[in-house]
Amino acid sequence: MHNILLIEDEHGMAEGIKDALELHGFKVKHASSAEIGEKFLETENFDLVLLDVMLPGRDGYEMCRLIRAKGFNLPVVMLTARSEEVDKVVGLEIGADDYITKPFSVRELIARIRAMLRRTSNIKETPNVFSFGHVKIDFCARKVFCNNEPVYLTGTEFDILKLLIDDRPNVISRDKILNEIWGYTFFPDSRIVDTHVLNIRKKLECDPKSPEYIKTHHGIGYRFTG
Ligand code: CA
Repeated sequence: MHNILLIEDEHGMAEGIKDALELHGFKVKHASSAEIGEKFLETENFDLVLLDVMLPGRDGYEMCRLIRAKGFNLPVVMLTARSEEVDKVVGLEIGADDYITKPFSVRELIARIRAMLRRTSNIKETPNVFSFGHVKIDFCARKVFCNNEPVYLTGTEFDILKLLIDDRPNVISRDKILNEIWGYTFFPDSRIVDTHVLNIRKKLECDPKSPEYIKTHHGIGYRFTG
């Protein structure tokens, strides 16, 4: 579940955004000022910041600059009012990733957040050689080893494993796996995902019945925890 920090001083607006995001499966922490937001950033891990420009005390621009100065590299989406003279170039120079102009629809907000998270999670690259427990994966050569012995995974199994590892530690839904691996043109039963995951577990897990690395989230999908 993605954790979002919302820095917004207008209470009604903040409540509305929080409810909408939570309804769409995001976790949201609300800070009513940049100063409070800064404290949260230092004590909790977030995937994205929604940052209002006009704030009492330190404003959104200053806050964005501070976030970057402190070395946080998570995406920052600025919330601006139509009436505000916003210098988008300045905003982008100080490290904001995107802007949303109020009033915005929930659909637009969710779409922009998802797009941003997708882009940044692609940046988070998995190294070519990745190890966990007794397993070593060479993504370039598409080879898998258990205790240094080669283990054969089918192309589909390998792709599912890579998807889970790239998105770790997030839960990936069966539908997402279906779309990413089989594409939109072909809709197999989602149980096909379960079958492949079962096979991967048999090949990689010490005890496939109580898996250590690929966990099931019942009714949702799977999660890599290596
Ligand atoms: Ca404001």
